[in-house]
Amino acid sequence: MTKTLHLGQTLTFTGDPFTQGPAAATHSSRGAVLVEAGRVVAAGEADALRAQHGEAEVIDHGAGLILPGFVDAHMHYPQTAMIASWGKRLIDWLNSYTFPEEGKFADRAYADEIAKRTLDLAISNGTTTLTSFCTIHPGSVDAFFEAAEARGMAAFAGKTCMDRNAPDYLSDTAQSAHDDSKALIERWHGKGRATYVITPRFSPTSTPEQLEALGALWAANPSCLMQTHLSEQVDEIEWVSGLYPEARDYLDTYEQHGLLGARGLYGHAIHLEPRETDRLREVGAGLVHCPTSNTFIGSGLFDMAARMAEGQRIGLASDTGGGSSFSMLRVMGAAYEIGQLKRNPIHPAQLLWLATEGSAKVLHAEGEIGRLAPGSMADMIVLDLASTPGIAQRSALASDIWEALFPTIMMGDDRAIAKTYVAGRQVKG
Ligand SMILES: [Zn+2]
Repeated sequence: MTKTLHLGQTLTFTGDPFTQGPAAATHSSRGAVLVEAGRVVAAGEADALRAQHGEAEVIDHGAGLILPGFVDAHMHYPQTAMIASWGKRLIDWLNSYTFPEEGKFADRAYADEIAKRTLDLAISNGTTTLTSFCTIHPGSVDAFFEAAEARGMAAFAGKTCMDRNAPDYLSDTAQSAHDDSKALIERWHGKGRATYVITPRFSPTSTPEQLEALGALWAANPSCLMQTHLSEQVDEIEWVSGLYPEARDYLDTYEQHGLLGARGLYGHAIHLEPRETDRLREVGAGLVHCPTSNTFIGSGLFDMAARMAEGQRIGLASDTGGGSSFSMLRVMGAAYEIGQLKRNPIHPAQLLWLATEGSAKVLHAEGEIGRLAPGSMADMIVLDLASTPGIAQRSALASDIWEALFPTIMMGDDRAIAKTYVAGRQVKG
């Protein structure tokens, strides 16, 4: 099997920058990543690896920064076509734009078209793994996993389940949600790089019977992940308390029905009660921060410092089309801006870690994605730290790698992604 040695700048984490600061990362201005059969064999200094692996084919990326591909821990591929739709509040936005668009996914050909478009946009933006809600139509899940499989990409997704407070054309039942999800698990979970994610949209659009059925399905398939939304907007929380009068809080609507666990992904999780943060931490659940969505829809300011101090497990996500960008660079920039509004300046090392290893950890896929270390998949990008004149003139003054990287985090877009590799195969650039 051919070995390929990628030369460039490298930045690798050996620890958690939220506890160890930027010292958790190692920067090499002349680093290298050795790839064989789609996986990383070694990462280190270029001279040493060249001497040890003289037989390897060499690809020199110059001053490009070699990083793991970004991992988006929460998004809605069926909303790709309606990104950046002007609106009022979450519920109006769902009714005006989201539901009519999701209804189109009854047509498998349309689902295929948008799945391919979404994954190609992801590759162009340096995102090598998407975690997606689909629609209620099982064909929307097949479309997404098939498009990811064709590109060799890791994919996390599931059929969105809704049996109330949704239009008739987007409603299933407790039984059909269970049975359709079960059939999709049998078809996709663990096939190639696919992971099935049991997906109740959120408590307002599921009856207690549907949540119970999906909780039972998760208990029967514990290696699956589970994703939903939690405490995104204040008026949504009031709605939930009216629909579930017996629940102690929003999280309890999931907990009472077997939908709280370490492999659970809770999108947004902004307005939390102390009991909820305690329970999320106790079970080791994944909180998924969606900063571009939170500012776009006006949901609120996620308290990164408080959640990290509690020891929560946190990933980062675009939440497109609620989020207003396909670029995880813009998502990192928005996380920084929200941190500033909370008097918590998030360091670029922490932003980068959240978009790679942090998200991989909430997906329980660390070791496989999100880090360029021996044994992990060679899903990687080459970042151009001078992709526009405005970024180039700022990064030219940088005194270290973090100062060189930060202008790209704040001002960069798909132009900063010089190359994208999936399982060692070049798919952009
Ligand atoms: Zn969402």
